[in-house]
This record gives sequence, structure tokens and C-alpha cells, in this order.
Amino acid sequence: MPHSNTYSRALALGLLASSLALGQGFPERFAEIRDRATPAQLYSFLYALPKGGDLHHHAALSVYASTALEIALKQSKLGYRFHVRIGFHDCGDGDNGAALIYQNINHATYNKLSECRKSDFTPLDDLSATQRKSWLSAMILDQPGETRNEFFEEIVPRMAAIHRDPYFFADSFAENLKLFGREGVRYIEAQWTPVAMERPDGTLFPADEALAIFKKRMAEPDVAASGVAYRFQTTVIRFRDDMERQVAFQFDFVDKHRDLFVGINAAGREDNDKGYALRMLNAFREGRKTHAAIPMSIHAGEKSSPGHEVRDTLLLGATRIGHGVNLISDPDTMLLMRGNRYLVEANLISNRMLDYTPDLTQHPFAEYLRFGIPVCLNTDDRGSWDSNMTDEYFHAVKGFRMSWDEVKKIGRDSLSHSFAPPDLKRTMIESYDRDVDAFERRFLDADWEAELRKIEPAISGYARRNLVP
Ligand SMILES: [Zn+2]
Repeated sequence: MPHSNTYSRALALGLLASSLALGQGFPERFAEIRDRATPAQLYSFLYALPKGGDLHHHAALSVYASTALEIALKQSKLGYRFHVRIGFHDCGDGDNGAALIYQNINHATYNKLSECRKSDFTPLDDLSATQRKSWLSAMILDQPGETRNEFFEEIVPRMAAIHRDPYFFADSFAENLKLFGREGVRYIEAQWTPVAMERPDGTLFPADEALAIFKKRMAEPDVAASGVAYRFQTTVIRFRDDMERQVAFQFDFVDKHRDLFVGINAAGREDNDKGYALRMLNAFREGRKTHAAIPMSIHAGEKSSPGHEVRDTLLLGATRIGHGVNLISDPDTMLLMRGNRYLVEANLISNRMLDYTPDLTQHPFAEYLRFGIPVCLNTDDRGSWDSNMTDEYFHAVKGFRMSWDEVKKIGRDSLSHSFAPPDLKRTMIESYDRDVDAFERRFLDADWEAELRKIEPAISGYARRNLVP
């Protein structure tokens, strides 16, 4: 068809002219898509949406179970051998009460077991197809009734031995950069403390050696090709008896590795009686005496009961709050956080899955946003929810009828409130603004339904179960 080019240009101009004639700018087009698209169309649209950073991201538990299994199976080449508990025998030692089905252990731990106890386990490589399916399901909150106890007390210990293999960590982090890059995320500020990383024989790598293994993997070309930048925060486990020692170590460690480590975080259940924020105040003040300022983002208010956890956590030195679900119950702190000095890292799917806000229409995310407290969307431990960043946007955009300006703002705020060094931050904000402009043109100038058919989103397991049936 000799005139097809001219024809399509005329058609495009016609569509543009008709949009303009209707006075339709992109905010109106966005609202039209939000309200009229089918769930599958909206998913494609939000998958293609340029996004900012994932600021609340636990690196190890952000890996999909399927990716984790695939990479764990390759570890035998490096000498790592994992064993999986597939049963319980009565060995007369009375110690299988706290044992977990599908728990992974390393070879050194396995070797220390009695012959009878060893028979509870099978090598990870030898799982049957059915056992592999069960193994995968055991790492995800995918069954009715599975919530925070399953997560904290089962999934975390099931994966712990595999997470201590630094080669596994580096490979799975690289895979995640690629997956996040495909859905438009351009920065990950992950939580990872490179301590307790193990050699195949179970002895510990010094933190610097574990870091060298990570850096070597990151120098491979597929990582740069992902287009996603990354930095880390270390994380204090707040309720542990050695909290003070952890804080002191992390001040030293981050200070020595500021090229890659940009902040300190603290995590762990706040409902533990040693998990409250002010227990850490002295330790953080001691750290500040001898180290130039280190940015802090700290978990706080990840609970549904009212309290001053967020206020107390700001006193620790945090300028970003992870979760902040119960900030809504503390008017003085809400007023304090209004403006632009602080940001709340919202984790909608995490809060839903762990039963802090089982009904997301009751989540305070939109109230913070519209009240003037900067917020962004994050994936937290997405491997355990089997979700992605698009799912977070889907819940937010649809559930709170977000406007286009609000969508752009949360993406931009995630970058401007990141702890990335100034040059990287500037570059990322520029690329975000450029990509947002191109996205607007793409969906304003053309027939949006036709445009959406060209997108092939990676639909997450969570989305298949909850958003795009
Ligand atoms: Zn978290």
C-alpha cells in the first residue's frame, strides 16, 4: 500500500487533533484508561509506566521462588550442596518439634545430623517434580490463611541457608535488576548486610570478601544492560540481644563502604517486646559521635494498633520511614512529616499479605499522599508475595483513583528521597522525566487500546491470583 505511511500519519494527526479538540491532555487520557481499561489492559499500561526507585527492598527475600530454585541448583558447581527437609522421622531425640518442612540446610549442618535425622532430608537436586512444586509453594504466601507467622517464622528460616551463599546472592540480585528494569524501575536501594555469608564448608566469609564476590558479579555486562542502578542499606535486627554491637558494626561498615552502602535501616517485628525504637536510641547516638552523617530509613509503625513508633523512629535519625501504617493514628507526627523533609515507603501488598491492612481500601497511603507527606511504592519482600512493582501501582492507581500528577509525583519522590549520591540522583531524575514525557506522547497521540496490545507484561503470580484473573 503506497499510501500507508501518509495514511497512518494523517490518522495519527487526526487522532491528535481530535484529542486536542476535546481539550484532552494526558491527565484526562490517563483517567480514561484508569477508568475504562480492562484489568489486563490496565496491567499492561502500568507495566510500561516509567517508575522511580524501589526504596524498600529486602534483597534476599525479593527473589522469586522459581528464580531462587534455579540459581540454588547451579550452586553445586561451586561446591555448595543444599539439603531439603521432606519428612519427619521419630529419631527418639525429641528435636523435630520446631522443624520445618521444606527447610533448606547446607552440607555442613547436614553432616552434623544423626543418621536417622539425615533421613528427613533429600538433596535439593534430587527433589521430584511434585516436591519441587511444593518447595516453591512453601516459599510463597499463596494459600488462604498464610500470613505473618508463615512469613516470619517459616519462609525466612526455610531460605536462610541458601541466602548465606554469596554467589547465590550476587546471581539472584542480578536477575532481579533485569526483571525490575523491564517494568520501568530504574533504581533499587536494597537492604543487605554482607555478614554471615558462608563458604561451602559453612565457615564464614569476612564481610569484605563477600562484598568482593558481589562486586565481581556486578561487573558482568548483563548487569549494566539492565539499566537499573543500585545501592544498599545495612539492616539492624532490632530485637536481638546484640543490637548495640550490630549498630556499632554497621556504622563502621557503611562508613568504610560509602561507594555502595548509603544508609542504615532497622527491621524486625515491632510487636516483639525488645523491638521498640527507643531501645536503639543510645546506640545510634553513639554511632553518630564518631561517624559523619549516615542517612537512615527505618521500619516503623508496621502495625495496625495506634502508637508513636514513627515519632520515636524519627528521633533515631530516620528521614524515611518504612511502612508507617500506624502513623495515621498520630496527628502530631503527621503534621511534623507534612512538607518535604520526610518520606513514607509504602508497601501495599506486604501490608495486605501480612494482615496489617487486609483491606487495602483502608490503607493510609492515599491520605499521606494527599495530606502532603511524600510517599512512594515499594515491594518489600516481593519474592514471598510473588508480586512485582506493577502490582503495587495497580492497587494504588485503581484503589485510590490516583491522578496522573500523583502517579508522576510518587515516582519522582522515590528518586529525590533516595540516598543515591547527588550525580546519580540527578541522572536518574532526568531519565525519569524524559521517559515520562515519551510515555505521555505514546498514549496521547495514538489509539491507546492498539498501543496496549504491543506491550507484553510479565504478569506476576500475585497478579494472576488477585488482579488480572
Ligand atoms: Zn521491610
